[in-house]
Parts: sequence; structure tokens; C-alpha cells
Amino acid sequence: MPAGKPAGVRCIQLTEDNRCRLFGKPERPSVCTQFQAALDMCGEGRVEALINLSRLEKLTANKDPSH
Ligand code: SF4
Repeated sequence: MPAGKPAGVRCIQLTEDNRCRLFGKPERPSVCTQFQAALDMCGEGRVEALINLSRLEKLTANKDPSH
């Protein structure tokens, strides 16, 4: 994604069966290539991983400083 992938937005490189179209290709972003799966982040499967990811996105979301 040219300007980076915003939080909460599905990556345009993700196929319908949740595979990366860029896997193994040099144009795959380095942040993706360097990511190491870990139990505390990924849990036991997709549902647990999405719950953990949603929690992290909420914790790191930009907050309006006027509130
Ligand atoms: S590994 Fe990176 S490029 Fe591939 S689908 Fe996931 S976020 Fe997109």
C-alpha cells in the first residue's frame, strides 16, 4: 500500500484465503518479512490473533489531545 497500511484496514496484498500475495517476493515490506510469530501476539489461531491485534490497535491509536 503506497502510503502504508492504516490500522484496522485489511492489507490489499492479502488473498481471500488469508495468504500474502507478496510472500517470498522482494517487494514484500521489510516489516512483514522481519515479523516473527509469537504465542503472546498470535495466540492459538486467527481469532485470538485478531483479538490481540485489535487490543494493540486501540492502545496505540492516535488520541485527540483536546479530550
Ligand atoms: S505480510 Fe505484509 S504485505 Fe503480506 S498481506 Fe500481510 S501485511 Fe500485507
